[in-house]
Amino acid sequence: EEKTPNEPEFHQAVEEVVGSIAGWYLDQTEMRKNAVLERCTEPDRVLQFRVAWEDDDQQIQVNRGWRIQFNQSMGPYKGGLRFAPTVSTSIFKFLGFEQTLKNSLTGLPMGGAKGGADFSPKDKSPQEIGRFCQAFMQELYRHIGPDTDVPAGDIGVGRREISILFGHYIKLTQKWTGALTGKGCHFGGSAGRTEATGYGCIYFLGHMLDQENKEIKDKRIAISGAGNVALHAARKAIELEGKVISLSDSSGTMHFADGMTNDLLDQVDDWKNNQRKSLSEFDGGKNADFLEDQNPWGLECDIALPCATQNELDEQDAKRLVENKVMMLCDGANMPLTAKAQEVFINANVPHAPGKASNAGGVAVSGLEQSQNAQRLSWDTENVDKRLREIMSKIHKDCIENSPDGKIINYRDGANLASFKRVAETMNAFWLS
Ligand code: NDP
Repeated sequence: EEKTPNEPEFHQAVEEVVGSIAGWYLDQTEMRKNAVLERCTEPDRVLQFRVAWEDDDQQIQVNRGWRIQFNQSMGPYKGGLRFAPTVSTSIFKFLGFEQTLKNSLTGLPMGGAKGGADFSPKDKSPQEIGRFCQAFMQELYRHIGPDTDVPAGDIGVGRREISILFGHYIKLTQKWTGALTGKGCHFGGSAGRTEATGYGCIYFLGHMLDQENKEIKDKRIAISGAGNVALHAARKAIELEGKVISLSDSSGTMHFADGMTNDLLDQVDDWKNNQRKSLSEFDGGKNADFLEDQNPWGLECDIALPCATQNELDEQDAKRLVENKVMMLCDGANMPLTAKAQEVFINANVPHAPGKASNAGGVAVSGLEQSQNAQRLSWDTENVDKRLREIMSKIHKDCIENSPDGKIINYRDGANLASFKRVAETMNAFWLS
């Protein structure tokens, strides 16, 4: 913290992991001599660059771009790009660190990275977004490639942006290689990638419920966010007859007292993704009410799925959920719970799956997209979904095997220990690298 005092999100992520692994690590004499923990918490490199682009009024705008190549020991760097005005080096370092551990849990050969820009796509025309993506790739292309670093989407970067970035990458390099994932299925994208994070999260939740001989059917599920992860988690939960009672965005929460139907979900999807409008203006019908500037955590629910952004659920929210007898939480977003909120659930014996385990389905299918690109083949949805289910099941098993003894499964410590051990053993074998 002394070296980087302005990086609260990064410190939060590292502190959480250190808390989970300390007991094990203290016994690893050789690793400690080889400074494995110190090396695992220092990124391989931090790239920061200028992105100059022209807006619709022919005014030149200047933004800041980043790519944090965090750790390459387990495979080529892999992790999303986020376009949002609130990003910072701290946020990308925390995401890159988490990504390194998450990717190791998938069992696929992927290192960890994250990047993006302090650019808000919200108030921009499609032409402006296109020009920005091309200007961003103008610098990024020299740092990425199928054996080096393979970026994907994240907040503010969906299939449309990935397609523009990929098109420009090909133009700049004259190479058609799988240097990005999340591509359209007719040009190298994998079946099932768009759905993978949300679906994977529900598969993981299914295993959590299974531990308690319960199922998703008829459970009241509060979901935050209305983006890629939230909408696909909602879709799979509805398919399994769960009762999805909320979605949210930065304007507030839409509460569906009787649960959402697929038809309603299609309408929200169109509203948010095609029309790019706010939930506050959405007409959800007579059984929906909009809670302005509120998150969903005050609603009575059996299961909470935070699928919007980091630190979106704090200690107060956690206490309210416990008072309302929430049964379990499963993260769709990365680090959506503050450290204090996590403690509330642990003390109340409420199981909570951290994003690095429960949202790993997205990057897992990205890894499968890389494999398909390398073979110049494409697999069908059924094949990809089967592999996704197997990977989520294996991650769940790893969490259980590494969870400390206690009343409930401690998914946080289980996921941190299982993933850190893998990266640490590799970094130890690499000695000074
Ligand atoms: P999207 O950009 O598709 O959607 C993000 C959603 O969250 C939007 O509805 C947005 O609302 C809402 N949101 C963002 N910030 C806030 C905030 N401060 N308060 C309330 N709502 C907010 O992103 P994704 O769905 O792809 O990503 C969501 C989370 O999941 C992120 O943490 C991401 O890192 C993580 N994740 C994503 C993966 C993927 O495959 N996409 C993979 C693994 C993790 P609005 O529209 O108003 O901005």
